[in-house]
Amino acid sequence: MKYQKHFQTKVTPQSQPIPGSNQVANSAGGFAFPVDDWTRLQRFLILGTEGGTYYINEKKLTVENAEAVLRCIKEDGPRVVETVFQISDKGRAPKNDPALFVLAMCAGLGNEKTKRQALEVLSSVARIGTHLFHFADYVQAFRGWGRALRRAIGAWYTEKDAEKLAYQLVKYQQRDGWSHRDLLRLAHPKPPTDKHGSLLNWATQGDEVPVGTIVDGFEQAKTADEDRTISLINEYGLTREMINTAHLNSPAVWEALLEKMPMTAMIRNLGKMTQVGLIGPMSEASKLIIGRLNDADVLHKARIHPLNVLVALRTYDQGRGYRGSLEWDADQDIVDALDNAFYMAFDNIEPTGKNHVLGVDVSGSMGSGIMNMPLTARDAACAMAMVARRTEPSVIRAFSNRFMELPVSPKTRLTDLIRHVNGLPFEGTDCSLPMVWALKNKIKAEVFVVYTDSETWAGNIHPVQALRQYRDKMGIPAKLIVVGMVSNGFSIADPNDGGMLDVVGFDTSVPSVMRGFILEG
Ligand code: CA
Repeated sequence: MKYQKHFQTKVTPQSQPIPGSNQVANSAGGFAFPVDDWTRLQRFLILGTEGGTYYINEKKLTVENAEAVLRCIKEDGPRVVETVFQISDKGRAPKNDPALFVLAMCAGLGNEKTKRQALEVLSSVARIGTHLFHFADYVQAFRGWGRALRRAIGAWYTEKDAEKLAYQLVKYQQRDGWSHRDLLRLAHPKPPTDKHGSLLNWATQGDEVPVGTIVDGFEQAKTADEDRTISLINEYGLTREMINTAHLNSPAVWEALLEKMPMTAMIRNLGKMTQVGLIGPMSEASKLIIGRLNDADVLHKARIHPLNVLVALRTYDQGRGYRGSLEWDADQDIVDALDNAFYMAFDNIEPTGKNHVLGVDVSGSMGSGIMNMPLTARDAACAMAMVARRTEPSVIRAFSNRFMELPVSPKTRLTDLIRHVNGLPFEGTDCSLPMVWALKNKIKAEVFVVYTDSETWAGNIHPVQALRQYRDKMGIPAKLIVVGMVSNGFSIADPNDGGMLDVVGFDTSVPSVMRGFILEG
């Protein structure tokens, strides 16, 4: 009797769980490992759930994630608050909304200590007016407007110096049906200075403009002509949101705005500035912009996230807006600068010198969008893989249920790679292929990195089994890092194998976390 024909743990089709493991059915009809709630929390904070995944709709995905968050809050609320703070404050996530949502959950559903700590970090997590409006909208779902909450909202206004407060009042005026007036009427903060008093008064009553503040410039700009608008921009530091939109086709107005333009606005308005003629070959504005995009300090201080650079890069390169009808001729020096800025926006990337096999899942399911951005999980996976391709001795391959070469050197532009990958056939999913291929071709890999949604189902062997075969037959204790590209609950990495690691795609700390894992032990 060949018992092992019916029961063995070395080769299992992905349509069945590995015997004796804790694998669960994924959404694609295959089996993978469940990720723990804390990993799920991180995935949610960094990847969000907007638009859902290929397999799971937005509502179900949000509920699943929120339930995991709730279990974390019950287990250790202060740790959840600390995780939110770390990810938000360091700019590790492309969007701040999930952080604000989880903070609202902590402020409403945590124990007393958790609630208090959540409100203590409110001003650090809700850094701009729009964040505060989002938070106000979220928190109502979990609690009433008690004293502690009102005090925390009030502190958001009174703990800023008057100049910063004035800027917030006119730059972010309302969102989600909330305005500063609504929040101030709820919170009734006591102004710490007369200046604060006159600003808060203006925000709630709208009369008596505080002279000499940016609010004054904002009020004057409402009726100013082009020349006057330019002087108001220079004098008061007005931003695009604060001027009469009638002047937004003037290159001179954009030139004045560019002087102090916040980085996020600069990156978003490259197309517009090209269309009005400000950006062009050898223009002073182009030089200024390229200088800022090539400055790591400037990028980090402004919390510019690589995913947002990637969106800007793809949009700018295509020469037309994602929404609306704006068109321009992309300036290639700007495209290069954005390509470079993508890498610089991560925490300092340092090589390990270890041999990497980078496998990018390009199967059908990776075509799902990310956070309502004009990007797919597949585009994002390509870009993430390039971070390692540029710094490590490496090969990069695409896979679905077949393995495909990619024409990529460390110098390949992201836009070219994404264009190429989007022309490949999108089929089923077999995440074991990078390991199977490396073994078959005797590739000396010390690290496998797989960029995937872990919805693997089409292979005759599980990815972890293929890795163990590789380790045994090659005699190399190769590690596996799974870069999760959607906020679902699965991973192809075995949580009980110390040589495997789950990280969250598009966490800016990923390159340094991966480096630490690769070099340890
Ligand atoms: Ca797939």
